[in-house]
Amino acid sequence: MHPTLFVQFLSRSRRGWWDLANGFSDTYDLCRNQGDFHWVVHEPEGDKWYREDTYTSRPLPVDKGTVYMSVSYINHLYQAYVWARQHPGLKVVAGGPVAAARAGDPGAWTPLYFQLRPDVVFPDNLTITGLSVEQFFGVPDFSGTWKLDIPREIVDPGAPVYISYTLDNGCYWGRCIYCNIKEAPEDLFRRRTHMAYEFDRLDHTGKKIVRLNTGSMTPGYIREVLPTLPVADDLEYRTFMRCARAENRALQKVVSGHGPELPALTLGIGVEFPSDRMLAYMDKGITCADILETLRICGQAGIRVNGNMILGWNNLEEEDVEALEWFLAEMPENAMSSLQLRWLHAHPYTLIHQQYAGKPVFLGPFYLGFKVEISGAQKRLNQAAVDRIQAWAPRKGFRIEGLNNVIAQSGKAENAV
Ligand code: SF4
Repeated sequence: MHPTLFVQFLSRSRRGWWDLANGFSDTYDLCRNQGDFHWVVHEPEGDKWYREDTYTSRPLPVDKGTVYMSVSYINHLYQAYVWARQHPGLKVVAGGPVAAARAGDPGAWTPLYFQLRPDVVFPDNLTITGLSVEQFFGVPDFSGTWKLDIPREIVDPGAPVYISYTLDNGCYWGRCIYCNIKEAPEDLFRRRTHMAYEFDRLDHTGKKIVRLNTGSMTPGYIREVLPTLPVADDLEYRTFMRCARAENRALQKVVSGHGPELPALTLGIGVEFPSDRMLAYMDKGITCADILETLRICGQAGIRVNGNMILGWNNLEEEDVEALEWFLAEMPENAMSSLQLRWLHAHPYTLIHQQYAGKPVFLGPFYLGFKVEISGAQKRLNQAAVDRIQAWAPRKGFRIEGLNNVIAQSGKAENAV
């Protein structure tokens, strides 16, 4: 095997598709000229990420040379740390979305999405970088042709695959109080300006679900990217959109002028906690009416919507639960496919991290923040919100996900069905 490897991870989701963390696709030729690609199947279940044997039992086919690792999730980064310790004769270089750097000293890497244990000593043979692959190798961002070899020894040619196509690595809004993306350095912002959609020519007969990576679709992307996406029976797209007025206007314009050739699209939207008071508190920059407008547009245009809602707030009032009830009653039927419930996680460098408390979560040397802990009275209000959602879901035709987790956090686990 070549002494230089470019490691990418993949894992099989519960729904049966392969999630490919294809971080070297934008620099395929550059990497191909220097070494071999090597795919590693990784653990998809979040609770197993905290078991040491998940990492120590995973083999690496080389013991010397250089391994570049594309790290999309924190378990990938921890794998880099474990391999560097297991193979002292190997040089390990890890970069990718989860290794993104925080603004500060340009000569030093400070992580954006987590913190380092103060006493941590990294192995000398491990380099973690917030640079893109192109920046690391000194070529312009997005100057190569996007390419991907799906590993045939692992993935059947007819299996559905989830692949990523990056639009940018930022969010033009950047203000939500539970999000740390605003801490990213401006000089490492990268944005694709030429959309060639090379995934259209992939040698793979199974369904291709393409994640259009950006923190939040801008009105410009909605106007310029959505109408030009390749349309085919085996192509689907997923992306995230903040339900702001400018985005809604752009989306309405696109769907009105597009006709039947609209690509199969699933939009992830942040419902967060649909009361205007709570949305303002979060600095989300939207109202409940804006979210309902997104649902109306998507429902009429056949765009699937996956909503995301956060529970665990410590400042809910009865009126917020009533606002949620109003929102659910107003929601168009069958406009939202699923609602993912999550308990509020306080990520480092966020306002939530300053204002809440909870038990710290670590993965090896990486401090990941905490799940928030709140008073009994606030748990009851959060649970009342969950009860309303459960009551409305069958009437409005959406599936609830993550229910048991939030019920466990709000203290009613014994009553969970
Ligand atoms: S819209 Fe999304 S990515 Fe942007 S700041 Fe808010 S939570 Fe973060």
